[in-house]
Amino acid sequence: MKIVMLGAPGAGKGTQAKMIAAAYEIPHISTGDIFRANIKNGTELGKKAKTYMDQGLLVPDELTLALIMDRFTEPDCEKGYVLDGFPRTIAQAEALTEALRETGDSLDCAIDVEVPDEDIVSRMSGRRACLACGGTYHIVFNPTKKEGICDACGGALSIRPDDMPETVQKRLQVYHEQTQPLIDYYKREGILKSVDGTQEVGKVFASIQAILA
Ligand code: ADP
Ligand code: AMP
Repeated sequence: MKIVMLGAPGAGKGTQAKMIAAAYEIPHISTGDIFRANIKNGTELGKKAKTYMDQGLLVPDELTLALIMDRFTEPDCEKGYVLDGFPRTIAQAEALTEALRETGDSLDCAIDVEVPDEDIVSRMSGRRACLACGGTYHIVFNPTKKEGICDACGGALSIRPDDMPETVQKRLQVYHEQTQPLIDYYKREGILKSVDGTQEVGKVFASIQAILA
């Protein structure tokens, strides 16, 4: 199964993608997580990506495509995958379609997690992330058992630098300009499915399971 998650930053793509990955035993591939791991490890790619991420801008397609195409060569991708945060531009979507077509393959569906901009701001201001294992929480909607400590691995939680209010506004603008057009792209491809992302996490997942059944 090959799935793309669409939606604004903070819509809950990562939260749902992790649940899909666990339920359907496919890898969860988040380009944002891969960039953040590179930043943490001080790689050249991480240094380049950070300059864009900190401003709420997209990392250039060239860098992002090289990274994801390399990730697709890993053996776990044979089972399929759930992509979270990729593609984010029409050029990335076309490159993905083409790469799959070359092997006679295609995506099964693109799931758009719909959340209005007003809700996005409160979601991102309360997001807390574990850099050690990638766990994502929310201080109100999905709190950890112990404040500031990851339930999954015991790591310390932090606020993502790009979740600061000014950067969130920029990311939303970038989303509307560059990523939202993908909704029409996948509609034309005939594989777009939409879910109401304002529901609680379990209900959003139930809607997704109904789509994938
Ligand atoms: P994205 O991957 O789309 O950027 P996340 O999955 O990281 O979004 O979710 C953003 C924030 O909103 C996180 O703090 C997460 O815990 C919270 N969240 C995710 N889904 C929901 C939901 N259905 N209701 C309320 N909060 C949610
Ligand atoms: P995310 O974790 O998906 O919210 O992504 C965090 C940031 O990483 C984004 O704001 C971008 O700067 C960068 N990024 C992640 N995925 C992509 C992508 N597919 N194309 C370009 N930039 C990306």
